[in-house]
Amino acid sequence: MYKTLKEVTKTAEELNMTIGAFNTHNLEMLPEMIRGAKEEGSPIIIQTSIDTAKYIGYKVMVAVVKEIATDEMVDVALHLDHARDFDEIKAAIDAGYSSVMYDGSHLPFKENIVKTKAVVEYAHAHGVSVEGELGTIGGTEEGISVSEEDKVYTRPEDAVEFVKETKVDALAIAIGTNHGQFKSKTEVNIPLLKEIHRVVSIPLVIHGGTGVKEEDYSELINNGIRKFNVGTELLVNWTKEAKDTFGNTEINKSLRHNVIPANMKVKEIVKHKIRLFMNLDSPLKK
Ligand SMILES: [Zn+2]
Repeated sequence: MYKTLKEVTKTAEELNMTIGAFNTHNLEMLPEMIRGAKEEGSPIIIQTSIDTAKYIGYKVMVAVVKEIATDEMVDVALHLDHARDFDEIKAAIDAGYSSVMYDGSHLPFKENIVKTKAVVEYAHAHGVSVEGELGTIGGTEEGISVSEEDKVYTRPEDAVEFVKETKVDALAIAIGTNHGQFKSKTEVNIPLLKEIHRVVSIPLVIHGGTGVKEEDYSELINNGIRKFNVGTELLVNWTKEAKDTFGNTEINKSLRHNVIPANMKVKEIVKHKIRLFMNLDSPLKK
């Protein structure tokens, strides 16, 4: 069924697992991503950047995700990733996205609170969840880049105040991850995560998940990470596979021959990540 971020992360909290939030870049890869979640028996969060939402069309995106979620009987939330523009957030909510991220992490703390609060008021009035962000995640996403020196880790005391004032449903935290990292792996700051988790009760979100070592997943999940973003790994592998097939397929053959292998590659990664995200070796949280 079509769900909100709040609903799927509640399930994750109860079962001590995390929900994979996977970025789609086109409609081609989307159905297999959702089918992958269904085959693993997990909810899934499909997310798009504003540019992808505009490319596909907000309403088209909503219609397709709702239809597949209902048809395949799998819980899917549709989330707008890293939005800084109120008009775009409103467009997503009005079109039927079930979740949005307002990223005010580049703003002074107080301004981030004020603007996030405004988004939360509009979103909650429409039954839509909101993810906020505190601190800076490194790397580049959709052209906005953060250098190593400008990275600021999330301060636990700020997180407490931010959550209390804004009433966000989930909080993206900066604990050392980087957007777009796929050639190397990062050292996540687990002690800082533990400290934030101790003082903040809402679901926490990891960005730049491609750069996180798989052996660290369990510790992240056991310490409150309930939404785990993976974008780059899907993008890189879809493109690699598609380059291969486009290069080797006769030009008069159906395009299916070029894109199906790439879609299946994405599905395989989604399924692999979800199996780890379900944290099957860890006990339930009580
Ligand atoms: Zn991000």
